[in-house]
Amino acid sequence: MPERKDERLSLPSVRLSAYESVVGEAEIEQIRMLAAPMAGATIQHLNSTYAGGGVAELLSRLVPLMNDVGLDARWDVIRADRRFFEVTKDFHNALHGAYEEIVPEHYKTYLETTRKNLELVSRDADFVVTHDPQTVGLVEAREPARTQYWLWRCHIDLAEADPRVWGFLRSYVERHDASIFHLAESGKDLLIPQILLTPAIDPLDEKNRELPQEEIERIVTGFGIDPTRPILLQVSRFDRLKDPLGVIAAYRMVRKWQDCQLVLVGGSAADDPEGEEVLAEVREAAASDPDVHVLALPPDSHRTINALQRAATVVVQKSIREGFGLTVTEAMWKGKPVVGASVGGIRRQILSGINGYLAHTTAGVAFRIREILSNKGLAERLGRAARTYVFENFLITRYLKSWLLALHSVRTGVRISPTYI
Ligand code: UDP
Repeated sequence: MPERKDERLSLPSVRLSAYESVVGEAEIEQIRMLAAPMAGATIQHLNSTYAGGGVAELLSRLVPLMNDVGLDARWDVIRADRRFFEVTKDFHNALHGAYEEIVPEHYKTYLETTRKNLELVSRDADFVVTHDPQTVGLVEAREPARTQYWLWRCHIDLAEADPRVWGFLRSYVERHDASIFHLAESGKDLLIPQILLTPAIDPLDEKNRELPQEEIERIVTGFGIDPTRPILLQVSRFDRLKDPLGVIAAYRMVRKWQDCQLVLVGGSAADDPEGEEVLAEVREAAASDPDVHVLALPPDSHRTINALQRAATVVVQKSIREGFGLTVTEAMWKGKPVVGASVGGIRRQILSGINGYLAHTTAGVAFRIREILSNKGLAERLGRAARTYVFENFLITRYLKSWLLALHSVRTGVRISPTYI
């Protein structure tokens, strides 16, 4: 069945001690204290791709860090064909409130693939974490007689979920011991405890570390982008829910008044079959304008994306729906003013007018971009506040700490009230 070739996963070795220079000794000590009682605990993360999108981005840093603090963490990916990913993409869109034609065949395909992957579940793991709808069904492998804690980590916003798809998945979700959501408003009423835990970025990885200015300029000019003129940037998978055509429309409104270039950077994710179609639409919309750069990059282009984010004058994230929006966090960490749609986790990150702007319409996005482009002092002030906000809330060390607390809570049965940890 599986069309995809076996992917080899080689995770970087990451040392917690390296983060002391960023977050300080006290934070590192707290993490070690929380990790000590968890020493040796085995934890298996299960998702649907090693590359592309926020979940893979998070796991590629979280798993090595969990290992470094003494847990025995592993990450496995289900094997599935294109049809399964078309089904789960329809589920994904429907869970985000879009209308999708869902037929019995969808559920049949989902269950068939799920059952073929049951052997992937580690029988020995103390904790099994299924990420998102693609892997929630693996809870069928749970053996009641075995002491094993199951968590469902949801990375999407379920507030307006299609009840048919949610009804189907919910029965699997509730066979877990606990669920983890980014935000209170993205969750659902459930019979199992809900833990709130916002994602984070790694300040030391290729995507976020400091880069020499010459390298940034070399990368930018290599794509034919002029680093001396204003650059608007959106980094996102080519997905309609990221509204790339809306970004082009906002750019055109801005261009009537101010000089700027638009860069739309995207890549594909193995579990997102819609990407090519959306990329073609974006290319067509951009075709006539030499100042619109559409870059389709391989999934490991972290340094290139880092450089583009650092070169940007304004970063845009015009999503129609959003789980958390790590691209927003990445740009804010780089001290960039971000204009984001007022949806999902973007609302949790941007305090409008303080560390960026939230906007509700295409015209609103264009208006805020113009405001920033015409006021350098404002851009700097928003950018500085953005970096501080990420430092205080959305770095990987805080994420690891929150995860350790979540595991303690599940293992001890001590309920954490639905507050952010
Ligand atoms: N990303 C990437 N290459 C791309 C597009 C996105 O590496 O071409 C990364 C991006 O930098 C971010 C993640 O993928 O780290 C996207 O996470 P986000 O939460 O913004 O959106 P998702 O794709 O999970 O919906």
